Amino acid sequence: MAWFKREKGSFDQTTPPEERRVRTEGLWVKCEACRGIVFRKNLEENLHVCPKCQHHFKMGARKRLEMLFDGRWTEHDAGMTSTDPLKFVDTKAYATRLKDARKKLGMNDALITAEGRLDGRGVVCCAMEFGFIGGSMGAVVGEKAARGIELAIETRQPLIIVSCSGGARMMEGTISLMQLAKVAAALGRLDEARLPFISLLTDPTTGGVTASFAMLGDLNIAEPGALIGFAGPRVIEQTIRQKLPDGFQRSEFLLEHGFLDAVVHRKDLKAYISNAFALLMD
Ligand SMILES: [Zn+2]
Repeated sequence: MAWFKREKGSFDQTTPPEERRVRTEGLWVKCEACRGIVFRKNLEENLHVCPKCQHHFKMGARKRLEMLFDGRWTEHDAGMTSTDPLKFVDTKAYATRLKDARKKLGMNDALITAEGRLDGRGVVCCAMEFGFIGGSMGAVVGEKAARGIELAIETRQPLIIVSCSGGARMMEGTISLMQLAKVAAALGRLDEARLPFISLLTDPTTGGVTASFAMLGDLNIAEPGALIGFAGPRVIEQTIRQKLPDGFQRSEFLLEHGFLDAVVHRKDLKAYISNAFALLMD
């Protein structure tokens, strides 16, 4: 009898799993520092800083530029893409990783070079995007940063680079390491042109990015609680066979030990950078 027979499909084929979830998903975010539950909208309004404990969440490159610039900005070299020179494959083909990241973020690599106004002053700002393969630096990121620096020199504008990176992009092997020298050389030319560079280090800034431009600012400033270092703490402990002190590789520790010039709360960053440029240039 038809009563006992399932006429069409089974339970598996009914509602797809993503539609079965309750729609409140994504409205709330758990803070990884204080474990408090924060309403996503409040977090966004608060510049992605936890209203309860002031933990600074990661901020995407576009949001960062929105925060720093007065209004619209002009993007440069947006179309530059990696050629995957080594045809690299690990657990996944590098080409697939690139394609997925491009689709997810609507950008071609892990850095945006932008030109706009900050408190009325023309500036060039390169902002890194952690969501794009861990903000890693391959040939495109290095080339875009170098061109951003050259743009600052040509147009006689100061430079900001916002770092947020796991380091060099291993899928491009030694080509990614060559970027360290290229960007550092370009910064040397910026220095000769007597134009200031403020390096803003955000959580995390590690590996080859720390080892090159992130630590070469006329001012090196960081957001509170950011992980900043070259090698990871475990690797260092194993190498030196010593226990590392508490808070090692965090902004505040680095400030105390002279590696940074300031630790600045996100809400004060724009005013801080604007004042610094006024002191350095006017
Ligand atoms: Zn919190």
